[in-house]
Amino acid sequence: MSTSHEPATIDLERDRALTIVWDDDVVSRFGLEELRVNCPCAECRGLREQGAEVWPKPTSPQPLRAEGAELVGAWGISLTWNDGHSTGIYAWDVLRAWTEGDG
Ligand SMILES: [Zn+2]
Repeated sequence: MSTSHEPATIDLERDRALTIVWDDDVVSRFGLEELRVNCPCAECRGLREQGAEVWPKPTSPQPLRAEGAELVGAWGISLTWNDGHSTGIYAWDVLRAWTEGDG
């Protein structure tokens, strides 16, 4: 496991993006659609494994909005979406890995 980082600041733009400034001053900006499509909950993981769309579904309100965000312990953040979905917990190490994957 690589060195883990924690956010220093978290900024949610509810109709646009989640921006995290990490404790080593690296800045990550995640578009809401990227976060929603890659939702890490069991239900969405299952959909992706079947090759199905996680979002949008026919009933999904558009544009996508984050209605709220809540810290989960010391290790991640959960987002509540305007389609009612809120079971995904985005762990800091996952978000950080996405950042580094972007190069
Ligand atoms: Zn999900």
